[in-house]
Amino acid sequence: MVEKGRAAVYTGLGQPMEIREYPVPEPEPGAILIKVSRANICGSDLHQWRGDIDLAALGAPLPAILGHEMIGTVAKLGEGILSDSAGQPLAVGDRVVHRYFYPCGRCRACLQGNDGACPIAPITYMSTCEQPPHFLGVYAEYFYLRPNHTVFKVPDDLTDEMVAPANCALSQVIYGLERVGFSFGESIAIQGAGGLGIYATAVAREMGAEKIIVIDGIEERLKLAKAFGADELIDLREIKTPMERSLRVKELTGGWGADVVAELVGFPQVIPEGINMLGNGGRYLEMGNINFGMTYEADPSKLVTENKSIVGVMLYGPYALKQALDFLSRAKDKYPFDKILSRSYPLEEINKAFEEQAKGLVTRSTIIP
Ligand SMILES: [Zn+2]
Ligand SMILES: [Zn+2]
Repeated sequence: MVEKGRAAVYTGLGQPMEIREYPVPEPEPGAILIKVSRANICGSDLHQWRGDIDLAALGAPLPAILGHEMIGTVAKLGEGILSDSAGQPLAVGDRVVHRYFYPCGRCRACLQGNDGACPIAPITYMSTCEQPPHFLGVYAEYFYLRPNHTVFKVPDDLTDEMVAPANCALSQVIYGLERVGFSFGESIAIQGAGGLGIYATAVAREMGAEKIIVIDGIEERLKLAKAFGADELIDLREIKTPMERSLRVKELTGGWGADVVAELVGFPQVIPEGINMLGNGGRYLEMGNINFGMTYEADPSKLVTENKSIVGVMLYGPYALKQALDFLSRAKDKYPFDKILSRSYPLEEINKAFEEQAKGLVTRSTIIP
């Protein structure tokens, strides 16, 4: 009898995900079949579910299994796979994390070593689940990691809970801060203390930040930012106008302004405010706005006359994922990583999980299939 695995299947906008079963595939040479232990709901999943991003309009063949942020264990190794991408031996039962997209390796961006900017890096879940190998999104019992992947074994000293956000949120901020050239002794203001903002705070701390200022309006998130290394908090409920908040950042940075401001909240209207928070010569890291068609008004002379720049970053280089794991091992006793995931749900309750996260009842939920 063919073994089957369950999956939550997305059929289109506004439709609840359905639990369906598909045959569990045998990995082809170079592939890995992973048993999913935890699959998180990331902001981008929420955007797809809500319809801010219409997968069908982007050309994704539906139905599909969504989800990309996860940790799992090796269920079956395809021929030729003896080690992970760092050369560590890999065996059935080992815990692993993978990069959820496949840069082409031959376009101009890939050849220049900036493969996050590959225009043809297919994201795993942008494929139909009706055809083998079926399991290309992580809201399922299994995940099929195709050949030419990036995969790393998870160190024994880390829990599944800590590691589950590593292949998206954590790797993303590590790579983003590198791309914006954040360096030792600099100040940073972080707009938004969701998962990305919290990780960015701890990573900036470990990179030798001189001062970290976090801006948010939700008590719980601000508290978490403090626990992850923020020096100063700006509470949107107390400091209500963009002008006052920019002045506060200036005040907290010796009258100069931040060297780097990171937009990790996903609202375009915060961008002019963030640019105002920068000191002359500062760099603005734009990572949160992934929805198409949303705009903001800006005065470009601010960039020119004050020598400021904007760096947009999506996806990440393969090594950022290894750095994310190493960082977690190093810093696990320093920051409360277990507090980032707030609630877990079985696969059957995935629609409820999305509803609750969409209402803001939960910061980052996890599905345990
Ligand atoms: Zn490419
Ligand atoms: Zn994500």
